[in-house]
Amino acid sequence: MMKQLLPHVLVISFPAQGHVMPLMEVSNKLVDHGVKVTFVNTESIHNKLVAGFSSNEPDGEYDHNRLRLVSIPDGLEKGNEEASGKLLEDLIRKINENEGEDEKVSCVIADLATWWALEVAEKLGLKRAMFSTTSVAVVAMSLHIPKLIEDGIIDEEGTPFEEEMIQLSPTMHAIHIDEFIWNCTDDPNMRKVIFGFSSITNKAAKRANWILCNSFLELEPAACDLVPNILPIGPLVASTNRVDQPVGHFLPEDSTCLTWLDQQPVNSVIYVAFGSIAVLNQEQFNELAHGLELTGRPVLWVVRPGLTDGSMNTYPDGLREKGKIVNWAPQQKVLAHPSIACFVTHCGWNSIMDTLGFGVPFLCWPYFADQFHNKTYICNIWKIGLNLDRGGNGIISRDEIKSKVEELIGDEGIRTRIEEIKTMKKLHALVIPFPAQGHVIPLMEFSHCLSERG
Ligand code: UDP
Repeated sequence: MMKQLLPHVLVISFPAQGHVMPLMEVSNKLVDHGVKVTFVNTESIHNKLVAGFSSNEPDGEYDHNRLRLVSIPDGLEKGNEEASGKLLEDLIRKINENEGEDEKVSCVIADLATWWALEVAEKLGLKRAMFSTTSVAVVAMSLHIPKLIEDGIIDEEGTPFEEEMIQLSPTMHAIHIDEFIWNCTDDPNMRKVIFGFSSITNKAAKRANWILCNSFLELEPAACDLVPNILPIGPLVASTNRVDQPVGHFLPEDSTCLTWLDQQPVNSVIYVAFGSIAVLNQEQFNELAHGLELTGRPVLWVVRPGLTDGSMNTYPDGLREKGKIVNWAPQQKVLAHPSIACFVTHCGWNSIMDTLGFGVPFLCWPYFADQFHNKTYICNIWKIGLNLDRGGNGIISRDEIKSKVEELIGDEGIRTRIEEIKTMKKLHALVIPFPAQGHVIPLMEFSHCLSERG
């Protein structure tokens, strides 16, 4: 009988908050299933991840319970793929020289934004999984780029010709061309970067044995049909048991907001958070602050350093009295709290996955890239939220904020659909008890595949 080898997976993440958090949770869950994980990130991000865990370790290291964090030099994000590939290859060879036969790295999970790691893995004869931080629908859109060009719907640079609504398959909802992620910016350079990045999905997907997404089959059945080798392993909500483990935050979480939430009435608080990248201009920030005050409700607002482009953040009296402002929240725990009534969000995919299991409706404030299509999922497909409309000046006004909060909270239809979504098999498992049963099947399946070394 062939000896069952214990899998050892190397996970490599792009150095951005919305990438590191879900990949760290994938790593933690694989470790829960007995898989050994080496998590690779750039030096500056690595140092943030291990801060707070180093007291019993040699400086800057984390190596516990089959999870080890290691770093490669900064600069990954600057696109020097060849040099990064060489560093990674050397790192894997070095790890494998030091590991026993049973524990050599046998698989690489690479963030789509570090797709070149799949080439390295292929060269070394390892199994390969690509991880996308987006919805499966966005992966499907990117995989369709060659066909869209061939059918004369977009040109070689992603610019649409005439057609506005694109139907990727008979069962998939039609997608407005403006919601293809590279069309979600007016900046031509950024558009080029995002289109180039989307185009890489095809190259990466061809090299991957599996495509992993923080999503689940019942949520995106038609999109899953369009992506070969898809393994939707979400929602990647962290187990509440993870106390002395890195979960991937770059900023320290302010847990005082949980005690503050305990003091608020059930279903009363507006939670406001725009993820790790979105920026509001000063006028918009002020308008939001006044809009939140006008609602008269308690507000928990994450104002992370860099959220505004100015240095004049002031809060109206009513908001200061009834609100709690924090730099960074333990978002998943916040969303699970019974006091939360709704979530004003930039529609980042991770934030959406954080929310669905806890029955919280959304007020959508998309900012960038896939967030516009994510908003369409929320408002038009799943119908569990409302969009905040901009005025002619491009600003979302205080009156719009006040009236949409009231409309959202009074909308019975949205409440019913949220409950329906919550009872989806995966999400139902999330609320009782952690670690979620819903994660077990695909991750067990995945861990099992990894054990059969190819
Ligand atoms: N997040 C958090 N605390 C906060 C705000 C955000 O832990 O105060 C986490 C959230 O749980 C999610 C990530 O930061 O995992 C943000 O990812 P998302 O895709 O929503 O947005 P991005 O930052 O990529 O724009």
